Order: sequence, then structure tokens, then C-alpha cells
Amino acid sequence: MTTVLTESLPQEEPPATKAVLDKKRVLIVGGGFAGIAAARALKRANVEITLIDRRNHHIFQPLLYQVATAVLAPSEIAAPIRQLEAKQKNLSVLLAEVKGINSGTRTVDVYCPGIGSLKLEYDFLVIAAGMHPSYFGHDEFARFAPGLKSLNDAETIRTRILSAFELAESTDDEKERARQMTFVLVGAGPTGVELAASIAQLASVTLRNNFRKIDPAKSRILLLDGGARILPTFSESLSRKAARRLSKLGVEVSTGVKVEKVDDQGVIAAGNRIPSATVLWTAGVSASPVIKMLGTKMDRAGRAFVGAFMDIPEAPNVFVAGDAATMTQDGNPVPGVAQAAIQQGRFVGHVIANRVRGRKDGRPFRYRNKGNMAVVGKNFAILESGHLRSSGFLTWLVWAALHILSLPQLQNRFRVQTQWLWSYLSGQRSSRLISEGSRSSAS
Ligand SMILES: Cc1cc2nc3c(=O)[nH]c(=O)nc-3n(C[C@H](O)[C@H](O)[C@H](O)COP(=O)(O)OP(=O)(O)OC[C@H]3O[C@@H](n4cnc5c(N)ncnc54)[C@H](O)[C@@H]3O)c2cc1C
Repeated sequence: MTTVLTESLPQEEPPATKAVLDKKRVLIVGGGFAGIAAARALKRANVEITLIDRRNHHIFQPLLYQVATAVLAPSEIAAPIRQLEAKQKNLSVLLAEVKGINSGTRTVDVYCPGIGSLKLEYDFLVIAAGMHPSYFGHDEFARFAPGLKSLNDAETIRTRILSAFELAESTDDEKERARQMTFVLVGAGPTGVELAASIAQLASVTLRNNFRKIDPAKSRILLLDGGARILPTFSESLSRKAARRLSKLGVEVSTGVKVEKVDDQGVIAAGNRIPSATVLWTAGVSASPVIKMLGTKMDRAGRAFVGAFMDIPEAPNVFVAGDAATMTQDGNPVPGVAQAAIQQGRFVGHVIANRVRGRKDGRPFRYRNKGNMAVVGKNFAILESGHLRSSGFLTWLVWAALHILSLPQLQNRFRVQTQWLWSYLSGQRSSRLISEGSRSSAS
């Protein structure tokens, strides 16, 4: 890595050995699914890779909702990005936040905590910075309705949910008790559906008989969406089945409902005030602000339009992969899911490896959809893969097996499997602690 220090540290000559100068420098921004797949695909290439992430860990986001609902602990679905260095000699990991990109000078400005600002040079740049929750122009909602994207978010949500039951138990005001026991989720995509079902089971099974004054099973869990139906990325028949399952679990689903306001008392939806102490935002996402720094064309969600080789028109040595990229295939957008991010990251890695070897680019990127799944509480999942549609217990077993196999490291797999088995048999959840520091932020 050639690093030019600009602020906190004195200027130093980088160690310019011949081997270093011979090698092309690849900067990868983001240690999510796409960034890691790109790094791995470059394992045998004669390049120097620097993988930059502002977090020191990779998160298996599909199971974040289980951290938010006390099934799993944060460490069970995350893995340190740095451990990649042990497995890949041409890779360095840098804990830093990207602050600016200049594709003219081929440099990226980063801020390293405790060190200061650095300027990094590159020959190839891969942006895999993902998405973050979007409040559709109402950023003021964020204070009252956390989204679910990071381990911090998951812990915040878990604290709010568990604290709501505690506050409902301790108050003698019936109205306030009802407000504490009302959970509103805004957005009925897979995250909203999975989270709502899991809160319902937490309330009706895990917390049963844990309180004297309240019956957690009488909680209201409302899932609101502005669209015509829940899970719009699935077929109508599966969406209907998931809605029926949610209703069996006690979740009240309302579609075609626009949330107009979120504040410290709850939400206003379709003109009606719904008092609630726990509002969760599972509605929209927009691309990382890093994309804006590229100065390339973006869609409404801030994702970069990429070409057939995942590069941007202004700079063919700059690639965008994963959720932060937008492209269509056969007239349909490539979805923002983990498998698309992995395929794109791997593809970009191979393109760079080819270019470094002086070879021509192979075939353009083509997304292979292996199917989409969503889980709706214990024993029920839906699966859509091509013309295949299935739902129910067997699909849920497939979902569980696939998720265990996809976890980032062996110890995650072992620990999640053990937690699930215990939770399945006992109905209990192991992460019900409210840490003292986080309690004050819950209301
Ligand atoms: C709650 C939830 C549930 C999901 N469930 C599923 C599911 O069941 N199945 C499925 O296929 N997909 C699911 N997804 C979507 C899937 O997780 C994403 O499609 C996938 O993570 C995208 O990968 P990525 O590499 O593009 O971005 P990410 O995995 O989001 O990684 C982006 C990385 O970039 C880093 N970063 C961002 N900005 C900066 C910066 N300025 N400087 C340094 N680093 C930065 C971040 O820290 C992060 O590590 C889910 C997503 C969420 C949030």
C-alpha cells in the first residue's frame, strides 16, 4: 500500500522496494459480502490489496434480526475482517472511514481513528460500501425509529424491545402500559416480516410467565406498509401465505398505509395516531455516501449505475459492487441481496486479475439467482427459485441449514447451531440482557 500521510503524521517516504512498485495497488472499500468476495477472487493475483472498512468486523446481515430479538448474541453473526490477512498474503486490512475519492489523481482520503487522515493511492478501486437505512427525506424519524443495518442498531432495537416490557410492567398508567406494549414496524419487506414474527414469538413464548402485572402475549405488533402487499419481491401466493402466518402469530398487518410522522409518542399513519414506545424502521435503504464521492450517475437511492463489467463510465479502473451498484438484467434490476453482492464482488476480482495479467475482459457480468427466502417465525419459511415456490416446515429447515452454512466462520456456525437447538427446544432466548449504558437511550 502506498500511503501519503496528510494531517496527523509527518510526511514520510514510503518503502519503495522493487517488488512493491511492480505490483498494482487495489483498494477495496467495504468488508461486506461484495468486498470480501472481491478480495478473495484476487488471492492469486500479483497485486497489493488494501481492504478498508470503518468497522473491524464483517456482519452476516440476514441474521441481524435475531440479534435484535435476543435469539443470538452479536458475536455469533460477525467475524473480524482482519483475520483475512492470515489467509491471504497479498491483503492488508485498514480500519478507516473513506472521506473522499479523487479518480483523477487516483487517490482515496480516509480517516483512521487515533491516527488521522491518510491519502491512499490506487491502480484499481472497488467500492463495496453497501446501503444504510433511508427515511425518505424524513431523517428526523431516525431518532425515534431505528433501522437495522449494524450490530449497534440490532442492540439498540433489542434494548428498546426488552425495556418496553419492563416499563409496561412497572407503570400503573394503563394508557402508558398499552403504549409500551405496542410495537410498530414500518416496512413489510423481508426484514420487517422476519422482525415482526420474531417479536411476536418473543412476547408469546419466551416471555410467558416472566411478569406479574402484564401478559406479554397481549402485546400489539403492527406491521405497516405503503405498498399493496407484504414481501413484494416474492410472488403473490407466497406473500399471501406469509401474511396468513403473521396473522396466526398475532401480527396485525396493514398495507396501503402511509406513515406520515414518527415521534416520541409513536406514529401517525393514514391520519391516525398509533401510540407506541417502540417504532422500528424497516422500510427503505439508500446507498452509502461514498458513491456520491465518485461523481458518477446515480439512481434515486444513490446507487451507482455500473456497466457490464461493474465499472463506472468515468473511470474504467473504478468498480462498484454489491448493494451500492445498480444494473438491470433482462429488463429487471439485479436485487440488493447477499448472493448478488458475492457474485458481483467475485466477478470484479476476476476482471481486475485479468487486466493485471494483460488479458482481455471475459464475459460481462450475469447474475445467477439461486432463489430468495424469508422466514416467518419458528417452523415456517418461504422459498422462491425460478418456477419453484415452497413454504412451511421443510422450507424452514432448508432456510436454517443454508444460513448455518453461509455464516462467516466455523465457530459462528457451531455457536448459532447450538443456540438455535436450545432455543427451539426450550422456547428461550439467550441474549435478553439490557446493558446499563444502553438503557437510558430507550424510552
Ligand atoms: C437486516 C437485513 C437483513 C437482510 N437479509 C437478507 C437475506 O435474508 N438474504 C439476502 O440475500 N440478503 C439479505 N440482506 C441484504 C444483504 O445483507 C446485502 O445485500 C449485502 O450485505 C450487500 O453486501 P455489500 O457488500 O454490498 O454491503 P454490506 O454487506 O452492507 O457491506 C458494506 C461495508 O462497507 C463498509 N462501509 C460503508 N461505508 C464506508 C466508509 N465510508 N468507509 C469505510 N467502510 C465503509 C461498511 O462498514 C460495511 O462493512 C439483508 C440486509 C439487512 C440489512
